[in-house]
Amino acid sequence: MKIGFIGLGNMGAPMAANLAAAGHDVIGFDLTARSPKGVATGATVLDAVEGRDAVITMLPNGAILRDVAAQIGDALSPDTLFIDCSTVDVDSARAVAELVTAQGHAAIDAPVSGGTVGAVAGTLTFMAGGTAQAFARALPLLEIMGQKAVYCGDAGAGQAAKICNNMILGATMIVTCEAFALADKLGLDRQAMYDVVSTSSGQSWSMTTYCPATGVGPQSPSDNDYKPGFAAELMLKDLDLSQQAAGAVDAATPLGAQAAQIYRTFVETGGKGRDFSAILPYLAKLGAQT
Ligand code: NAD
Repeated sequence: MKIGFIGLGNMGAPMAANLAAAGHDVIGFDLTARSPKGVATGATVLDAVEGRDAVITMLPNGAILRDVAAQIGDALSPDTLFIDCSTVDVDSARAVAELVTAQGHAAIDAPVSGGTVGAVAGTLTFMAGGTAQAFARALPLLEIMGQKAVYCGDAGAGQAAKICNNMILGATMIVTCEAFALADKLGLDRQAMYDVVSTSSGQSWSMTTYCPATGVGPQSPSDNDYKPGFAAELMLKDLDLSQQAAGAVDAATPLGAQAAQIYRTFVETGGKGRDFSAILPYLAKLGAQT
């Protein structure tokens, strides 16, 4: 297929390279000069969309996505497949899908889980919203960039799934770190704590796959001085999106709200650029009254 790829950052560049390596003709565009392997780069955003069968976006936020969608609208070929893989607010995802489909194209929101490692390895998980027909058209491309794609429902459903998942992840990571910090102060050995919890009812992905305690469990950012991994400010972005969505539909998410507040304080007090599991050393330094 002829594919246009807009947003060649940490995630977009390897995703575009994987599509090119699979034999697709890929033209990319980014505001900063980037040339992933096998990907031609356009001088303007229009170079990356004109005459393309599919256009994929991997951008920082909903405002930029809306802006790009408005810019490229008229330049898309008839019946283009538009796939947005960015993590954005549900309203922006729906607005962009509406704009693109009103122009006669097919659109899905397909945010990802799996991070930069998954983007490079082509093992991302996609969660998709849009029509079943648009999803079916997108599936062969998603299967190159990832190992799993779940159809979640109408436009915006992929973003809804993404922020619900990451709200669980953020809150779970915090409470896992709280438990380690408490265990330390109770004199419980961290390895013993891991051995018990990883096989007990407190078990979670944060504990068993991404353990925040250095030297315990499988290799994770805690074993690499808490270098990301998944940066704390990206977790904060996703938690803020969950709170924006909760406010819009009047859903009670008290733990999600608290998790967002904790990550905000962490990011503002030295956590920016650190992995989101670095909440453990941060909490370990705090006392009960802080
Ligand atoms: P990034 O900042 O590395 O890349 C974004 C790219 O978009 C940048 O290269 C930037 O120059 C480009 N860009 C910005 N405005 C543009 C425009 N108008 N036209 C063209 N290019 C433009 O970010 P990333 O880590 O690649 O993340 C991209 C998206 O994926 C975000 O929505 C993020 O939340 C989501 N995501 C990231 C991860 C991760 O681990 N990094 C994991 C899952 C989802």
